[in-house]
Amino acid sequence: MKKSELKQKLSRIEAFNSPKVELEQYETPPQLAADIVHSCYMQGNEKVIDLGTGTGILAIGAAISGMKAKAVEIDSQALKTAQKNAEASSVEIDFVQKDVTNYQSEEDFDAALMNPPFNIQSNEGLNFWKKAMEISDTVYGVAGKGFRPRLKRLCNEYNHEIVASEAYTIGLPASYEFHTEASRETPVDVYITRRRSKNGT
Ligand code: SAH
Repeated sequence: MKKSELKQKLSRIEAFNSPKVELEQYETPPQLAADIVHSCYMQGNEKVIDLGTGTGILAIGAAISGMKAKAVEIDSQALKTAQKNAEASSVEIDFVQKDVTNYQSEEDFDAALMNPPFNIQSNEGLNFWKKAMEISDTVYGVAGKGFRPRLKRLCNEYNHEIVASEAYTIGLPASYEFHTEASRETPVDVYITRRRSKNGT
């Protein structure tokens, strides 16, 4: 499927009913979601996991593209919306209501897709990256500016390496960072990390 067509379909995803700021609930814009999913698909990934799926956009994009998708989310209300969205998009996704931090996966994945909490004061976001690297060969993740040194350290710990990154700007609701405007363009980076092979190459 063409990326523009994927973006079109992802534009129809229903948003969070009442976003919970403490869980950093906001949607990945359809263009960015389509870029991530398309790149993941083009790289030949078949089995993916979406960590903190929210309203389901990344998992649904993956399933629409023909990948097998599992999705983890702590919030039951968000999961309900995600399930509705999956149905409306006519795709099957294996949804699991769990905290990513202590999620024990019995399987490995080709890729993890995620737009995790950015707040670097809490360990929440870091736990997403750790879990993603633990259970998948490739990770596609969105992060706030200045995350690279931290991510590099995590990669060393989890035997991954950063293979690509791209800068984007996304509109975040005022409640997350700014208080004077309804929404503000915020710079983010999308990172792709990959598991180093055993002989270290
Ligand atoms: N992936 C979605 C939502 C991103 S917002 C999208 O790209 O649009 C981050 C999501 O992570 C929210 O839905 C939030 O409820 C969820 N989340 C936050 N902490 C979590 C945790 N510990 N375990 C599982 N999900 C969590």
